[in-house]
Amino acid sequence: MLRQSAAGEENTVAADALFVLIGARPHTDWLPAEIARDARGFLLTGEKLPDGYDWPLERGPFSHETSMPGVLAAGDVRHASVKRVASAVGEGSIAIQLVQSLFAYERLHSARPTEAAAPAGSANVG
Ligand SMILES: Cc1cc2nc3c(=O)[nH]c(=O)nc-3n(C[C@H](O)[C@H](O)[C@H](O)COP(=O)(O)OP(=O)(O)OC[C@H]3O[C@@H](n4cnc5c(N)ncnc54)[C@H](O)[C@@H]3O)c2cc1C
Repeated sequence: MLRQSAAGEENTVAADALFVLIGARPHTDWLPAEIARDARGFLLTGEKLPDGYDWPLERGPFSHETSMPGVLAAGDVRHASVKRVASAVGEGSIAIQLVQSLFAYERLHSARPTEAAAPAGSANVG
């Protein structure tokens, strides 16, 4: 006998086996509204961000970057991800690579004009 928890509706279904497929709903309600999601709550990233989205930076979003610059999403919570363990692990490692890219971009674009204009070989270290 199956009972739908929300409505309380009960059904008896003849079956030889039962496969429990719970745990696939994204828990993204707590995120700020600025982080774009699809109709089911999965986070939109990179090229999946909606057309005409108000992206504030000169550069485009990185592949796993959400609509909030610098906030990345990896694994099942990401819209159109593969929804497999191996893929989620891989996306985690991609996210780390992208963090390094974000830092590199920030370093490049926050350099003071005098530093940016400094001749080769005279860059600050550290
Ligand atoms: C029933 C079922 C069967 C599956 N079978 C397979 C299979 O056979 N092979 C396969 O490859 N894949 C399978 N999958 C898919 C696989 O489980 C997922 O692809 C994988 O777990 C995704 O990893 P993830 O780290 O992205 O997300 P998750 O494993 O879901 O991890 C997300 C974690 O974040 C935590 N979390 C959520 N919200 C918050 C918050 N606000 N603060 C802190 N923590 C939070 C959650 O508690 C959870 O621990 C199955 C999935 C389901 C639901």
